[in-house]
Amino acid sequence: MYLILFGAPGVGKGTQSKRLSREFGIPQVSTGDMLRQAIKTESELGSQVKSRMERGELVPDEVILSLIEQRIQEPDCSKGFILDGFPRTIPQAEGLGQLMQKLSLPAFRCIEIYVPDEIIIRRLSERKICSSCGTDYNPILNPEPADHICIKCGGSIISRNDDTDQTVRKRLDIYYSQTANVKSYFQQRGMWERIDGNRNVNEVYNDLLKLI
Ligand SMILES: [Zn+2]
Repeated sequence: MYLILFGAPGVGKGTQSKRLSREFGIPQVSTGDMLRQAIKTESELGSQVKSRMERGELVPDEVILSLIEQRIQEPDCSKGFILDGFPRTIPQAEGLGQLMQKLSLPAFRCIEIYVPDEIIIRRLSERKICSSCGTDYNPILNPEPADHICIKCGGSIISRNDDTDQTVRKRLDIYYSQTANVKSYFQQRGMWERIDGNRNVNEVYNDLLKLI
């Protein structure tokens, strides 16, 4: 399964991605993780990435594409992968299509999990967190136990105050503007599928399974 999952912060993309990854035995490939990894290994690409980032510059599309090319040929990707945070630009989207052809891989699917802004804002501002281990609790995705005691560590669950309406709106705006070009690129090619993320986790997951 070759999948690109899109979704604004708060739509539950991470939860769905983790579950698909576990059930199908395919990795989640995140460009953020790859860049950090490249820097750590001190490869030639890694030092390019590092100096770019130190100068506050964007990592060029070719560099990200070569990292993706290396990553998706690793053994754990033999049955597929779920891409996260990529592609962000049209050259990246084009490059990925060419790369899949070059490696004789099947076409990938682009699926967006969509939840209306007002509901995301409500979800994120109702988010709670364990004061000892940091586990997130959310009324829809991961409800807290009635006794407000963390199921993982027994710590007490408290409200998170950092996700105010305004910061959530700002994060949504960033997501929409980052995704707009790539979204219309895939839409024009009939490759953009959208599922309703405003339901419980299992319903969303079953819809994902129907599509893939
Ligand atoms: Zn805890």
